[in-house]
Amino acid sequence: MSTIASVDTTIALIDAGRTAGSTCSPDLASGPWAFDASPGYGPGASLADPPPAVAPRQGELPRAYREADPADLDARVRAAKATLGDRVVILGHFYQREEVVTHADFVGDSFQLANASLTRPDAEAIVFCGVHFMAETADLLSGPEQAVILPNLAAGCSMADMADIDQVEECWEQLTELYGTEPDSSGRVPVIPVTYMNSSAALKGFCGRNGGIVCTSSNAATVLEWAFERGQRVLFFPDQHLGRNTAKAMGVPLTAMPMWNPNKPLGGNDEQTLGDAQVILWHGFCSVHRRFTVAQIEQARAEHPGVRVIVHPECPMPVVDAADEAGSTDYIRKAIDAATEPTTFAIGTEVNLVQRLAAQYPQHTIFCLDPVVCPCSTMYRIHPGYLAWVLESLVAGEVPNRITVPADVADPARVALERMLAAKPPVAGA
Ligand code: SF4
Repeated sequence: MSTIASVDTTIALIDAGRTAGSTCSPDLASGPWAFDASPGYGPGASLADPPPAVAPRQGELPRAYREADPADLDARVRAAKATLGDRVVILGHFYQREEVVTHADFVGDSFQLANASLTRPDAEAIVFCGVHFMAETADLLSGPEQAVILPNLAAGCSMADMADIDQVEECWEQLTELYGTEPDSSGRVPVIPVTYMNSSAALKGFCGRNGGIVCTSSNAATVLEWAFERGQRVLFFPDQHLGRNTAKAMGVPLTAMPMWNPNKPLGGNDEQTLGDAQVILWHGFCSVHRRFTVAQIEQARAEHPGVRVIVHPECPMPVVDAADEAGSTDYIRKAIDAATEPTTFAIGTEVNLVQRLAAQYPQHTIFCLDPVVCPCSTMYRIHPGYLAWVLESLVAGEVPNRITVPADVADPARVALERMLAAKPPVAGA
């Protein structure tokens, strides 16, 4: 691997004025405990979208962890992990900082990681270095005695929080009143709910209870096909961009994809529009992927003739249309891996993954389309200090920050996940 600096190191160098560049917030140079206590998603996120009142808050990290230097934390994590041995498995999401990923037994997207935990049924603790919905999914798929631990409870996901169960139930009530519940002559029900993996277990459970299904960014088209075989239209949440980009590629006209704003009656639509709808898109988005623009792509093409531009389908539609390719994190990784000639790649996804790929594939030139360093602010809350704290707590016989999905939610949520697996097993997820 080459010596390209990690995102954390880059942020520290920018903050100290020792390298050129800019970050989306000076707060990134602090430990996440500096902003954990205050409501909000943290530096760089869409601060206009407050976390739900019920979102878990992290208690204060003990001072010994807050004040330890990086080398000390690294040594403490290694020592605790060695002591725990096979009793613990550490999962690291692609978007996690390098200083955490280095300790992970498995690195991948959310669904790959939830599946990876299945290969370690004897591990008592699954430490999920990702965000809250991912830990919930791991809990759905893991054994009942296994404890899934999220090192920082404030690591939510602003996109997942944009659709809460009460809003979705209210939307469903309005749609049911409008469409009724009777199937058409071909047996298709009026509407099928589809939730992206990046959603709470409660929404996966909602889909399980109402004939719906889960999708990942890899299998969204397969899942929409499954839904159209069974329903006249789809209610897709929470990411409008994944829904729109996928349905558009399948030939659904934009005019048949109204947006549902949960704060307005009928989502801000009239009955005619909803009657003609094929995909109703929830008003949600990812703060990280919304940062990418067509202007950035044009600049990359001007500065790097022949550049190959690959973006994630959570990016807005004009960005996906302007790119050469769009695909999940796993698609991006495989596309780079498969390139046999030295290639310049401009990538539209979270910067930790892009910088790691740049280090792993030094034969290529790989850079993030967004020149401003702006990692996912909620992933960023998993600092090595929190990882050291949960591992040392486990060594001491305590089980901190356990994420448990109650059975009345977990059972239907598993139904929705099983439908996805039966529709076609995904190779990768969000
Ligand atoms: S990158 Fe976007 S969708 Fe993924 S965890 Fe961060 S905010 Fe959520």
